[in-house]
Amino acid sequence: MPAELIDGVSIAREIRQEIAEKAARLAERGIRPGLAVVLVGDDPASAVYVRSKGRACDEAGMYSSTINLPATTSQPELLEVVNRLNADSRIHGILVQMPLPKQLDADTVIRAIDPRKDVDGFHPVNIGKLLIGERDGFVPCTPAGIQEMLRRSAIETSGAECVIVGRSNIVGKPMAALLMQDAAGANGTVTVCHRHTRDLGAHTKRADILIVAAGRAGLVTADMIRPGAVVIDVGMNRIDDPNSSRGYRLVGDVDFESVSKVASRITPVPGGVGPMTIAMLMSNTVKAAEQIGAA
Ligand code: NAD
Repeated sequence: MPAELIDGVSIAREIRQEIAEKAARLAERGIRPGLAVVLVGDDPASAVYVRSKGRACDEAGMYSSTINLPATTSQPELLEVVNRLNADSRIHGILVQMPLPKQLDADTVIRAIDPRKDVDGFHPVNIGKLLIGERDGFVPCTPAGIQEMLRRSAIETSGAECVIVGRSNIVGKPMAALLMQDAAGANGTVTVCHRHTRDLGAHTKRADILIVAAGRAGLVTADMIRPGAVVIDVGMNRIDDPNSSRGYRLVGDVDFESVSKVASRITPVPGGVGPMTIAMLMSNTVKAAEQIGAA
């Protein structure tokens, strides 16, 4: 039987509806959650992400502001913008769109964001809170979205063999930290694989829940999947497609065609993890507004 699709678009829509309701309740207390997105340079893919983040905020009744800076922006100039946003009471969440032009140091910029407004969850304070299980911090949006997606799809993580392929700071590592917590929606037995893992398939084949974030189209094939496993494909890779008007199409890291014949549940690309990431960014912004508003 082919795997059932986990529909990120409809789950994200449901979450965005709930966020709009929370935002409306905050508005009754005179608080309008506000997100500032800083975009440096004119990378077209980043511009598309930034626009969709702004649109999603508008739809939920939140305040959003995009700060477009030239590609030649210096580190002190960018830090000044971040400091201004840290002090701006209309802004509860700050996101600096990555990647940054090469004269700018992303780590320094991330550390300059007030951790209470770090809705991307990349500040070391928030990563530390995630690891030790403190709940007032912010969890990076993609892993948070995956956990929420599993929860809303009634996929049991407790005691499950959870295998993660990829150990980036934005997906693999925080995903592992989340799933290993002693908490609802977690309690998994986590294995993290990466570029140096010997015999990747031997690990992926043990997974009840396999999460792949490697950025390699078609890396995971059907022979690497345990029958009935749940497969979450984070990858977003552009591959040439002369039949598409854009000349390319988006594919994940998982060979969907073959893997969907073995797995029990699977996320599509696009329409799986991607929409969840934006929903969680909004959710983190509302959480920031609630926490800052209550302070
Ligand atoms: P990254 O390049 O920072 O990290 C990739 C990781 O995969 C590394 O840790 C590396 O060790 C591992 N890896 C690479 N090749 C491997 C192999 N052959 N075997 C085992 N491990 C291997 O990537 P990232 O930022 O974590 O992103 C991963 C993918 O997820 C990309 O395609 C990216 O576009 C996508 N992504 C999607 C979303 C979303 O919202 N849908 C969000 C973030 C990232």
